[in-house]
Amino acid sequence: MSAGDYYDTLGVPRNADGKEIKKAYRNLARKYHPDICKEPGAEDKFKQINEAYSVLSDEQKRAQYDNMGHETFTNASKGSYTGGGGFGNSGFSSDFSGFGDIFDFFGGGGQRRSGPQPGADLLMRIQIRLEDAVSGIDREIEVMHSEPCTACGGSGSETKKLNVCPRCGGSGQIRQATNSPFGQFVRMSTCTQCGGKGKIPEKMCRECHGSGHTRVKRKISVHIPAGIDNGMRLRMEGYGEAGDYGAANGDLFLEVYVQPHDRFVRSGDNLETSVDISPAQAVLGTQIEIVTIDKRHIDLRIPAGVQSNTALKIAGEGVKRRGKPGDLLVRVRIVTPKSINSEQKELYQKLIELEGKSSGNSSFFSGFMGKKRSR
Ligand SMILES: [Zn+2]
Ligand SMILES: [Zn+2]
Repeated sequence: MSAGDYYDTLGVPRNADGKEIKKAYRNLARKYHPDICKEPGAEDKFKQINEAYSVLSDEQKRAQYDNMGHETFTNASKGSYTGGGGFGNSGFSSDFSGFGDIFDFFGGGGQRRSGPQPGADLLMRIQIRLEDAVSGIDREIEVMHSEPCTACGGSGSETKKLNVCPRCGGSGQIRQATNSPFGQFVRMSTCTQCGGKGKIPEKMCRECHGSGHTRVKRKISVHIPAGIDNGMRLRMEGYGEAGDYGAANGDLFLEVYVQPHDRFVRSGDNLETSVDISPAQAVLGTQIEIVTIDKRHIDLRIPAGVQSNTALKIAGEGVKRRGKPGDLLVRVRIVTPKSINSEQKELYQKLIELEGKSSGNSSFFSGFMGKKRSR
């Protein structure tokens, strides 16, 4: 499913506030709800509307979307399967503990819809280095997910034929009436024979025991775009759990954790680092070689008379986000030497003498004090 820009999908301006977005969403969702709208393509349209709303109604996701642009947000992370076997260690840290639904398209709390269910979304956390977040990187990741069983084509039936479930008559739901002193309660529950699918295999597939799914470990190549930050999620459409026969797969979400760097700290799109210089270098000014995060050498001129903690800017050496890259801020620290040799000591001594003399003679302040004292 490839939708256009989320703002276009909802028909709202880019600066629309939460209320406008909600209103537009409600109108459209009502119009295109698959139970109401019988136009062809209504269900897709409904999905797109929900997808757009799930992003634009969430402040954090919306900011991320605005920052990264539609293509990057939705597509940059579209991976492709690489190779078949050989699932070696990719040297990549990940964990599979965080499975769960991320995008709650239907507002949660809703009833399980009958019929074939789409696959669940997966969440996987990945670690990247700061330098990779700065310039972007292609990565191979391994994901364990379900795919349609190859023996039965995902149908769960050896003959690939499905029959209507005799228990629920194909609705996937069972009506249960219970009598109580307050009257009769009617409750709809998921059919236990077909699990809500409404259909059962004609001849159960021996490979997948009728589920239609097999668990597979896959290597997927992912493009991690420059500018990605801690906690951002990349969506890989269709790489989640397999859906029921005839329904869509879930999505795989990659939540990015950026490891701290020993020399650079990120601040928005800027990077910060620091250099140590001596008091003499601070007084006279100097030139210092800076190694950038991607290991290039750049000469930085430190002006004479620089004060401690001054940040000097190297333009364009920050996060390389599309459009305008950030800058590198080099903070100058003046470090007082703790041990000096006798020659240095002599020179410092001389400096102090000179400073004493000059302050005694010419400065306005000491001159003023001098007069005061002479009164
Ligand atoms: Zn059933
Ligand atoms: Zn099968």
